[in-house]
Amino acid sequence: MKKREDTTNVDKKFPEILSLILKYLDDDDDDNDENAIRNAVLAKILELILSSGADNENQSGEIHKVKCGACGTYPIQSDRYKCLNCGDLNLCAACFERRRESREHKSGHAFVHFKSPGELFGRAVTDDDVTYAKLKQFYAREVHENITCDGCKRDTIKGLRFKCDSCPNYDLCQQCVDGDVTTKTHKSCHPLIVVPRRAIQQIPVEDIQLGDELGSGAFGKHFTDDPFY
Ligand SMILES: [Zn+2]
Ligand SMILES: [Zn+2]
Ligand SMILES: [Zn+2]
Ligand SMILES: [Zn+2]
Repeated sequence: MKKREDTTNVDKKFPEILSLILKYLDDDDDDNDENAIRNAVLAKILELILSSGADNENQSGEIHKVKCGACGTYPIQSDRYKCLNCGDLNLCAACFERRRESREHKSGHAFVHFKSPGELFGRAVTDDDVTYAKLKQFYAREVHENITCDGCKRDTIKGLRFKCDSCPNYDLCQQCVDGDVTTKTHKSCHPLIVVPRRAIQQIPVEDIQLGDELGSGAFGKHFTDDPFY
């Protein structure tokens, strides 16, 4: 079934962005116009990205403009699972639950679970930000206090924290995931999902790297009703 509906906020607000550009063009011939337009448009886009996350929080039917790599559904709605091991593979919720595999993709890969497009753990992200290498780097100094790794048994997980989608209450640290650790209950075919830190803490300024690119507003919003908590 092919559906082509563009109902995201950014699309709906596109005329608004256009009129903003035209407004600036109508103004005087100041040399700074181009910068002013660029800044205004970027600010508007950022605002839209952030507000689209807020408006649609917990609503079903959000549209991710990517194709499911297993069943081919486009667009993926509501829940999108992006594989961190494969170069470019997304699964819809149904295919994720069925543990669909391909020649390259195995069910035991690590995933990022997107509930809203362009938003991860309360932060605005682009698809390019969400790769295993970039997440590792970005969350390198993250500390998950009192979360014991079920692989190496360390009582604090540092860096990325992964939850097994098959084992109940089973967490792994980045090192154990990189080492493909398995235990009595946890098998290599179990999907892993990156989960955010439980407690919302202040982020030291020197830890904000992606934030510099996204703009200060990107860090102003946090969701606390995440079901992984
Ligand atoms: Zn699918
Ligand atoms: Zn994969
Ligand atoms: Zn570990
Ligand atoms: Zn498991």
